[in-house]
Amino acid sequence: MLFIQKCQNCNAQFSWSKIYKSFLWTYKPIKCSECGTIHKITIPGRIIFVSLTIVPMLIFANFLSPFSNLIATLTIGILILIIGSLLTPFFVTYKKSF
Ligand SMILES: [Zn+2]
Repeated sequence: MLFIQKCQNCNAQFSWSKIYKSFLWTYKPIKCSECGTIHKITIPGRIIFVSLTIVPMLIFANFLSPFSNLIATLTIGILILIIGSLLTPFFVTYKKSF
C-alpha cells in the first residue's frame, strides 16, 4: 500500500478523491471529515505536485516527443499530466493549519 495522508489531529485516513479534489480547486485546504481539522498543502507538497505533472509534461514536449506533429505531442503531454496528477495524492503532504 502506498501512503496517503492521514489527519494530523485524529489520524483518520483521507481518501484519494478528497486530496485529488483539493488539487482541482488549486490546492484547496482539506477538512477532515472526522474531526473537522483543516489541512493545508505544504510547500514541498506543491513542489512534488508540479514535478509530477507540469515538469514531466514539459520534458516530454521539449525533449522526448517522437512526434513532429504538434497535436500528437500535445495529446501525449496532456495524458502525462493527467497520469501524473492521478499519482500525486500518494506523494503530496498536507499539514494541520491553525
Ligand atoms: Zn481528523
